[in-house]
Amino acid sequence: MSNALAPYRRLTVKIGSATIVDGATGRVRTEWLAALAEDLAALHKQGVSVVVVSSGAIALGRGLLGLSAVNLTLEQQQAAASAGQIALSQAWAASLGRHGIVTGQILITPNITEERRYFLNARTTITTLLGLGAIPIINENDSVATQEIRYGDNDRLSARVATMIEADCLILLSDIDGLYTAPPARDPEARHIPFVPAITGEIEDMAGGAASHLSRGGMTTKIEAGKIATQAGTAMIIAKGTPLHPLKALTEGGLHTLFAAAGSRAQARKRWIMGTLDLAGQIYVDAGAAKALLDGRSLLPIGVTRVKGEFVRGDAVAILDPDGREIARGLVGLDREEADLVKGKNSKRTAELLGLGARSELVHRDNMVVLMGLEAKTA
Ligand code: GLU
Repeated sequence: MSNALAPYRRLTVKIGSATIVDGATGRVRTEWLAALAEDLAALHKQGVSVVVVSSGAIALGRGLLGLSAVNLTLEQQQAAASAGQIALSQAWAASLGRHGIVTGQILITPNITEERRYFLNARTTITTLLGLGAIPIINENDSVATQEIRYGDNDRLSARVATMIEADCLILLSDIDGLYTAPPARDPEARHIPFVPAITGEIEDMAGGAASHLSRGGMTTKIEAGKIATQAGTAMIIAKGTPLHPLKALTEGGLHTLFAAAGSRAQARKRWIMGTLDLAGQIYVDAGAAKALLDGRSLLPIGVTRVKGEFVRGDAVAILDPDGREIARGLVGLDREEADLVKGKNSKRTAELLGLGARSELVHRDNMVVLMGLEAKTA
């Protein structure tokens, strides 16, 4: 029996509405959730970090507010999400609480995963929760998100979350046990595909648009999620979530489709820093700091000689050596005014100036790409 989860230390698990909410009663499937919580607790005990992206707010809220099960207006969906989210997080807190695990709720909209400042903050909150042994429970902030700034499906949302926290695997638990050569409901000849080495046009063609009445995403949004995840170095598993103990099943040889990650996550982050960001400023460093960066260390205020540009925490900046050559690029940890204030100062003085708890690095090595010399150090 092969354990499909054995290689992974940091997971994002996406739970579809049709798995957590009973379609007939509109209530949480409590027995199922209790079993899933057991699976999560077992992983947690093994030291695996888990972030849950849970759908179900709209499906639960419908029942609570007495709305019909089909054709809700956007306003009704948003009201349903608002009422349902409370029930959803209570269910999570209670089921994981039974295993002594604390949950933290985070509701996000696309600007949070796409805008650098929010991205860095959300990532810090999530990793802090993980460091404290909690399990973050994430959903889209459906009750305030407008149509234009909405993921609308938790498949793609969970892929963004997985890449944000650099999970090594994203698991989509839904009502289907993987990718088939054609939608199985329509084609009796459809074959299950256990492993997808790369998402090609052919793979995309296999994904029909079918979705159940409870969940938003069909196979198409799952393949979209797969593209986001795998390109960022995160593997993806699609497995059937509805039976009891769906994660345990994966550790015992249960049917699923695995999408292989393309390249390493560190390479992917490096591509992301290099490729998609505008530079908001320049930071000039002295020779000692330049050497430290080339050796793979973080940029500390003490090595900074001059700061230029209008940037805020999370913006991308260029780092230049005393000859004015760009030696690195990274996401800056302080606003421009703060950076100016602490440049040339040691860590103690920096902490005094910025207050306790302030981050002591100006650019953390994890958020930096060194352009010259020891490039490999950033990976
Ligand atoms: N965020 C939605 C909810 O909680 C679910 C979206 C989806 O089904 O993918 O109801």
